[in-house]
Amino acid sequence: MQATYLAQSLVPRVGEFIRIRRDIHAHPELAFEEHRTATLVAQKLRDWGYEVTTGLGRTGVVGTLRRGQGGKSLGIRADMDALPITEQSGADWQSTVPGKMHACGHDGHTATLLAAAHAIAQDVRFDGTLHLIFQPAEEGAGGAVQMMADGLFEKFPCDAVFALHNMPGVEAGHFVFRSGPTMASSDDVFITLKGMGGHGAMPHKSIDTLVAAASIVMALQTIVSRNVDPLQTAVVTVGAILAGQANNVIPEEATLKLSVRALDPEVRTLLKQRILELVELQARSYRVKARIDWREGYAVLVNSKEHTDFATDVAMRLFGNDRVTPNGPALTASEDFAFMLEKVPGCYLFVGNGGPGSPGACMVHNPGYDFNDDLIEPGAAFWVKLVSEFLSG
Ligand SMILES: [Zn+2]
Ligand SMILES: [Zn+2]
Repeated sequence: MQATYLAQSLVPRVGEFIRIRRDIHAHPELAFEEHRTATLVAQKLRDWGYEVTTGLGRTGVVGTLRRGQGGKSLGIRADMDALPITEQSGADWQSTVPGKMHACGHDGHTATLLAAAHAIAQDVRFDGTLHLIFQPAEEGAGGAVQMMADGLFEKFPCDAVFALHNMPGVEAGHFVFRSGPTMASSDDVFITLKGMGGHGAMPHKSIDTLVAAASIVMALQTIVSRNVDPLQTAVVTVGAILAGQANNVIPEEATLKLSVRALDPEVRTLLKQRILELVELQARSYRVKARIDWREGYAVLVNSKEHTDFATDVAMRLFGNDRVTPNGPALTASEDFAFMLEKVPGCYLFVGNGGPGSPGACMVHNPGYDFNDDLIEPGAAFWVKLVSEFLSG
């Protein structure tokens, strides 16, 4: 990408934010351990004149900037946490911490929002209140919920909230929007079957949990194919089946681990109902006892049409229509920004990290992944324009 979208006076500083991104990348921190990252973010925001609140949702940071007399308020969120993966990207700024890496690009989301924060503080006119929300623990631990439990939207009321995520496999700097349900709910289900162990030579004197588990795995496959409307989206994945050790021993216990996803709350309810029924009745038919531990994870992420249209329009005017997909596909991945969007309307959008065949195409959560620094400038320019237009008085 050659074109520059930030004000000319700020373009020379993009390099500074690339350095910040690489510094965060080299020092990854897992969920609720983002002390170094949060300190860096808070320090920068203070330097630029933001009112800074730390410790919200343990390691979350909010930077607030007020201008004019306007009553409108806007929230923009970036995530800060890394993943428990050993990095193999080979980059000069590769993780210095074994077993931890920024494999989802949250280092880039944070640096991009900092670049925007700096540009906005320097020379953007607006009328209202801007809250920049730097969130911990997006990767499964629910940092958004923790920040909200600590009063995020009571202390920092927002009329709308926005967030972005990089997207490998899509041309670098290409913006992708979707209104309505955009990312799936995600529930974790743990099933324990209890039978009676015995000698593999005398199966009739035991109650075999392994055969019951195998049958349950197959029965679960009928939920998506036979119970869910074919025009709806649903996933029932059995990711683990643990039973037995030896070829001549019938295992007393078996465990199944499931990931259950949907793009519609009613489908989510149907999946739960059918899984409970099938497991219970299958178990009974094999004379084993089933215990089901159902852990509700992230909700369906729903973008408001009004705010998606607004953000799409901002991107189109900034980058041109051919750099924007207004109606992208929904994803079966999940994202805890969904909980913020349940409380405040807004839009979660994607920015391409690099097209097929380019280094940026490496999928997130892969040990070879790296955030594409070329996104910092267009990403920041997008946030700057969104702020000036949303809070235009
Ligand atoms: Zn991730
Ligand atoms: Zn992510």
